[in-house]
Amino acid sequence: MEKVDVIVIGAGIAGITTAYYLQKNFPDLTYKIIESRSSLGGTWDQMRFPGVRADNDMYTYGFTFNPWQGPIIGKGNEIKNYIDETAKKFNIKQNVAFDTQVESTSWKHNQWTTKTNLKNYSSQYVIFCTGSRDRNNPHLPKFKNESSFQGKIVHTQAWGDTQYKDKNVTIIGSGCTAITMAPSIIKEAKKVTLVQRSPAWIIDIDSQERSSRTYKTFEVLKDYLTSRFFKKSLRRKMIACDPYYNETTTPSYDFWDQRPASSLDQDYFRAVELNKVSVVREGVSNWEKKGIKLKSGKVINSDVVVMATGGNAQLLGGVDVFVDDQKVNINNTSWYRGMMFSGMPNLFAHAGYINFSWTARCEIVSQRICKTINYMNKNNYISCTPRYLGEETKPAIQANYILRAMNKFPNRTYKFYQNYVLEWIIFKIAKINDKALDFK
Ligand SMILES: Cc1cc2nc3c(=O)[nH]c(=O)nc-3n(C[C@H](O)[C@H](O)[C@H](O)COP(=O)(O)OP(=O)(O)OC[C@H]3O[C@@H](n4cnc5c(N)ncnc54)[C@H](O)[C@@H]3O)c2cc1C
Repeated sequence: MEKVDVIVIGAGIAGITTAYYLQKNFPDLTYKIIESRSSLGGTWDQMRFPGVRADNDMYTYGFTFNPWQGPIIGKGNEIKNYIDETAKKFNIKQNVAFDTQVESTSWKHNQWTTKTNLKNYSSQYVIFCTGSRDRNNPHLPKFKNESSFQGKIVHTQAWGDTQYKDKNVTIIGSGCTAITMAPSIIKEAKKVTLVQRSPAWIIDIDSQERSSRTYKTFEVLKDYLTSRFFKKSLRRKMIACDPYYNETTTPSYDFWDQRPASSLDQDYFRAVELNKVSVVREGVSNWEKKGIKLKSGKVINSDVVVMATGGNAQLLGGVDVFVDDQKVNINNTSWYRGMMFSGMPNLFAHAGYINFSWTARCEIVSQRICKTINYMNKNNYISCTPRYLGEETKPAIQANYILRAMNKFPNRTYKFYQNYVLEWIIFKIAKINDKALDFK
């Protein structure tokens, strides 16, 4: 069994951020990042579908400790390289155990024992940087007669070497991914049909825009808050100002009830306008030999059907967690400040915002974790455990992937706000020893 001070699970944006702050605050601390993939980057290593890119600006999505130097929107491979380069710059890579899958972690006798497929580790702390998505099992809606379809079905999460040159491609989905990939696929495909149950709000980003992190932070949050306080008037304004929105293209929900999709330099709007991408707004009835049949009876001939149907939410990377031999059901816990769970000592987990840059939250949570460890060291505490406090969990947005996974989240939240500026202030000034934490 290898002994370290901290076990970090996952080497994506959250894992690299955590490692940076641990090294900065505790030069003598030992840690190991355990990563099931063979490379760094998490999401940005896994997602390989055509056109994959960030949806929000890189000024806020980049690390503050290694600011992004590229254009406002980063492509998937550029973000992956940026994460690699950051890990190299801060000597983080040497602390990663690649190709290693964490199976369980167990708290007993004031320490965690983490079991992997290769070896076991003991540590005082465990930090989950496992993202919010089940990386092995994406959301795949089932339609009747799947075996009759003779073409290829692929989910965006497992793109592999899917070929689409000169082929009829059908994309099922209406979220960010579908809107991102359609203009990219049509560059090589014969035809692209986008099948959506319902339309989405789409914002356009100018690839030439240059800005600063501070400006973007306030702009994004101002837009989000406006959408919450002035729902109906904003909706009317958006429809009136943008000729794209009409009876068939206006979403049934209000702006920001779900995360808006983004087009880059009007690419999606132009592809639709020029009839390069056809959009069909109907449910799917079943598979046919040559494609998919819609509820209206119309058949869309397809060589490749892309399921841009989203992920399945998962909080702790599928790892079984035990406290004193009892397996923890995360749904019976309270989520302390969106970074710990009641009854689970010395265990931290990253979760990002729905309405703002994921990296930005990873940074403030990492700083708060370091402050907590520092406080414990100074006071000779061995453990810190949140109590079961707070209010019933409510979904922050009405996105389907959140609504269908409510039983995979804690049933209460304690002081977890979907507001970066507010949390930034609170994490700076709130006492570490608050009434919700039990120190021993
Ligand atoms: C196409 C796309 C575009 C996006 N665009 C944006 C955007 O513009 N802005 C934004 O804020 N967010 C965006 N996101 C969300 C994105 O997932 C997060 O921003 C961020 O990359 C998550 O980083 P993470 O490190 O927390 O998790 P992940 O990137 O999911 O990494 C988790 C890592 O943990 C590893 N892991 C998990 N479980 C285990 C285990 N049991 N054992 C060992 N290793 C394990 C995984 O292999 C993985 O490498 C986007 C997501 C997608 C899919």
